Amino acid sequence: MSSSLLRPLDGSHRQMFIGGAWVDALSGEVFETRNPATGELLATVPAGSAADVDRAVKAARKALEGPWSRFKPAARQALLLKVAELFEQRWEEIALSDTLDMGMPITRSRANRHRALGTLRFYAGMATALHGETISDSLPVGEHFAFTRKEPVGVVGAIIPWNGPTASTIWKIGPALATGCAVVLKPSEEAPLTPLLLAEIMAEAGVPEGVVNVVTGTGQAAGAPLAEHPDVDKVVFTGSTATGQSILRASAGNLKRVSLELGGKSPVILCADADLERAVPVAAMAVFGNSGQICIAGSRLFVAREIHDEFVGRLAKFAEGLRVGRGIDPETEIGPLISRRQMERVLGYLDKGRAEGARLEAGGGRLSEGGLAAGNFIQPTVFAGVADEMTIAREEIFGPVISAMPFDDLEEVVARANATPYGLAAGIFTRDLSTAHRLAARIKAGSVWVNTYHAIDPALPFGGYKMSGFGREGGVDHLYEYLNTKSVVIRLD
Ligand code: NAD
Repeated sequence: MSSSLLRPLDGSHRQMFIGGAWVDALSGEVFETRNPATGELLATVPAGSAADVDRAVKAARKALEGPWSRFKPAARQALLLKVAELFEQRWEEIALSDTLDMGMPITRSRANRHRALGTLRFYAGMATALHGETISDSLPVGEHFAFTRKEPVGVVGAIIPWNGPTASTIWKIGPALATGCAVVLKPSEEAPLTPLLLAEIMAEAGVPEGVVNVVTGTGQAAGAPLAEHPDVDKVVFTGSTATGQSILRASAGNLKRVSLELGGKSPVILCADADLERAVPVAAMAVFGNSGQICIAGSRLFVAREIHDEFVGRLAKFAEGLRVGRGIDPETEIGPLISRRQMERVLGYLDKGRAEGARLEAGGGRLSEGGLAAGNFIQPTVFAGVADEMTIAREEIFGPVISAMPFDDLEEVVARANATPYGLAAGIFTRDLSTAHRLAARIKAGSVWVNTYHAIDPALPFGGYKMSGFGREGGVDHLYEYLNTKSVVIRLD
C-alpha cells in the first residue's frame, strides 16, 4: 500500500482509496484542489466515475461478506476506540488539512477535536449496546420463542459536502463501523483531502480492507452513480436540498434506504428580555462561524422591536471587529469562502439585498486588501430593515450574511419563523423559562437551542424537519439508521 500521508500539500498527486489500496481513476483523469485563501494548488486528485464507484461498491460488498462480518460488537468497539486514539494523535495534521483545503480558521479546526473524538467514542460505546428484543408469545397455536435481531444494513454510499470534511466523514463512517456496515464515501470535489487522510488513518488503526472506501470525483460523475448503484443498500447524504432531491430520485431503482441532511434558513429569536451581552456574540457566530458556510446558520434574526435598534447596533459593531483572513493565521476568526463561484454567489445575494431595499449595517462586500486578493473573502455582513419576502430572507445564502427583522409579539414571530420550507435549527434568547419552552415546542425544526447555538452533542439526534431532510445523525437514532430489524420466530413444540 502506498501512502498518501505526510506528503506536503504542494500540488503533488493524491490517490483515492478502494479495497485497501491507493489507486487512480480507471480513466486516469484528475482534478485540482486549491487553497481557497490563496488560490494555490494543493493537490491533484483522481476524477472518479461510475466505473470507480462500481469497483468500490464491489470491494465494500466483499468486505461485508468476508472477515468484517465476523467482527463481534466488542471488536468493532475496540476498532473505533483505536481510530479515535490515532485521530487524537494526528489531530494537528487533520486540522491543518481542513484549514488548507476548505479555509476553516485553524482555531476552529483545532477546536473541533473535542466533538469529533467524542462522537467516535460515543459510537464505540454504542457498538456493544445495540441489540434486539425478545417478544412474548401471543400466537394462537403452539409455543414459540420470538426475538428480533439488529443486522447491518449493508453497503452504505455516503456523499458529503465541503463545509466540514472531518465532521461529515466521522458522522458517516463512525456508525458504519459501530454497526458492521461497509462504506463508499464520496467527498466533495471542493475539499477531498481530509477524507483521504482520515481513510488512511483508519486503515492504520486496523479497519479491514474494503470496509472504508473513498472515491473522489464530482457530484455528476461519481456522486450520481453511487446514489443509483443497484448494490448499494443505503445512501446517507449531507448537502443541498436540490441535490438531496436528485439522490432520492436516484435511490428509487433498488429502493435504497436514504437519510438526508440538507440546507436551512434557520430563525434566531431575540426576545425583549434576552441577555444582550451573551446574545450578541452567539447570534453573530451562529452565522459568521465557518464564514456562514454552515447548514444551521441562524441567518434570519428576529429581534423584539423594543431592543431591535440597540441589538442591531451591537451586532454590527461585533461584525466589524471580526478578524477576516487566511485560515492558517491563528488570529483569524473568519476564513474565506470555499471557491470563487461560492463567493460570486454570495456577492450576488448582497446585491439583491441592497436592490430589494434592505439596509446595510455592517460589511456588504468583498475583502481583497492585505494580501487577500487571491482568496475568496467576504466581510461579515448585517442587513436590517429586511422584509420576510426578500430573497435574502428566504434563500439559503451559505455565506456570512445576517438578515435582521423586528417583531412585535410571540404569536407573530412563531408564524414568521416557521414560514420557510426548511426546518433544520432555531435559536431562542430569553430569560423567561416559560417563553423558552413555549417557543421551543412550536418551532418546526430538528434542533432548537435556547440562550446558545450550535450546541451539538454526540448523544443528541441532529437532523431536519420539512425540506431540511430526514433521518438523524448523532444519538441512538443514528445507529438505527444503519441497521435492519429481523424478526425470528421459533416453534418450540
Ligand atoms: P451539494 O449538494 O452541491 O454537494 C454535496 C455533495 O453532493 C458533494 O459531494 C457533491 O459532489 C455531491 N453531488 C452533487 N450533485 C450530485 C448528484 N446529482 N448526485 C449525487 N451527488 C451529488 O452541496 P454543497 O454545495 O457541497 O454543500 C452546501 C449545502 O450542504 C448547503 O445547502 C448546506 O446547507 C448543506 N449542508 C447541510 C448539512 C446538514 O447537516 N444538514 C451540513 C452541511 C452542509
